[in-house]
Amino acid sequence: MREKNTDLNTKCVHEGELPIDQYKSAVSPLYFSTAFDYQDQHLDQYPRYFNTPNQIGLNQKIAALDHCESGLVFASGMAAITSTLLGLLSAGDHMVIQNSIYGGTYNFVANHLKDFGIQHDFTAGLNADDFAQKIKPNTKIIYIESPSNPLLEIVDFKAIVARAHQSNILVIIDSTMGSPVNQLPAQYGVDVIIHSATKYMSGHSDILAGTIACSKALRDRIAKRAKMLGGNLSDLTVWLLDRSIKTMGLRVDAQNKNAMIMATWLEAQPQVDRVFYPGLTSHPDHVLAQSQMCGFGGVVSFELSKNLSAVSFLNHLKLIKRASSFAGVESTAVIPALTSHSLLTSEQRAALGISDQLIRFSVGIESAEELQNDIAQAF
Ligand SMILES: *Cc1c(COP(=O)(O)O)cnc(C)c1O
Repeated sequence: MREKNTDLNTKCVHEGELPIDQYKSAVSPLYFSTAFDYQDQHLDQYPRYFNTPNQIGLNQKIAALDHCESGLVFASGMAAITSTLLGLLSAGDHMVIQNSIYGGTYNFVANHLKDFGIQHDFTAGLNADDFAQKIKPNTKIIYIESPSNPLLEIVDFKAIVARAHQSNILVIIDSTMGSPVNQLPAQYGVDVIIHSATKYMSGHSDILAGTIACSKALRDRIAKRAKMLGGNLSDLTVWLLDRSIKTMGLRVDAQNKNAMIMATWLEAQPQVDRVFYPGLTSHPDHVLAQSQMCGFGGVVSFELSKNLSAVSFLNHLKLIKRASSFAGVESTAVIPALTSHSLLTSEQRAALGISDQLIRFSVGIESAEELQNDIAQAF
């Protein structure tokens, strides 16, 4: 497994701190102003331009955490994704996009991008060859998501980047499931790293936000469009997200450990047919995951055996909450066939390997023993 960066927690706590104010506070102050002196500033400062003091601080923290030159913080993961695609693509361009992808991204690419004259092709699978096969002369972007949701499949960063850069194609990743704690795609040459900060960065299921990290040149192209789209995050939430990220390293480490314990335990239960977790040697992408990740995350998916009702199982959980999001400190579970993937037909779901018995379990930081007891009584 890859080595974890030793300075991660220091960055989580201190990176992007604002200059010491007159009161010498230990925590950065919150500037709630929408108006700034224009004469002293070389920047035109305004919240929608992503350049208020608190935004500048958090943008810098995101860049440092994802090992990139620049960062930008958005009002949601979808604001980050749509602003990035509309910032980097123009009419006549083509993008290649992974078939198993977050539902909102799928919808935007499949149903909205064509209104801007932008073409796309979804891949047939997740191997580098599946992406290469869809490249056209006007392809400008390859878009990946790894680990994928809900089956935790892994995409090979090195192979995809090598193929894309041969043809001057940018690689964009939705790295939400990995988090900056568990993977650093920029170290493999991935050009734009996107997170729904609603998940591990927030970690408490109480903030909606998104981030991107990339070179300064790409950041400027994306920001030019993003300033018009108006998807910035309010400064109060910027300040709260900055606070949440201070404990991200600790939280995600605890979730990595708990998820590994739960995945191993679930694999041994007769009521479970199959467990999907990249940390298990039984996972088809385990070796690849080990080579490019330093932790496997808090999400474990599993298939209940056929004689159990998935809905009844979820209704009988007491400690683990039924909830559609993931990555919070509290454990949650969801049936993808009834939620995130309910708009697909059962044939389409079957083609993606998502059965009606599949449970996506987001493991929090509670005691693993109590989580096991809860699942055992719900069986
Ligand atoms: C949640 C999520 C998004 C969308 O983020 P929002 O903050 O809800 O807009 C995008 N990608 C992935 C992988 C997600 O889990």
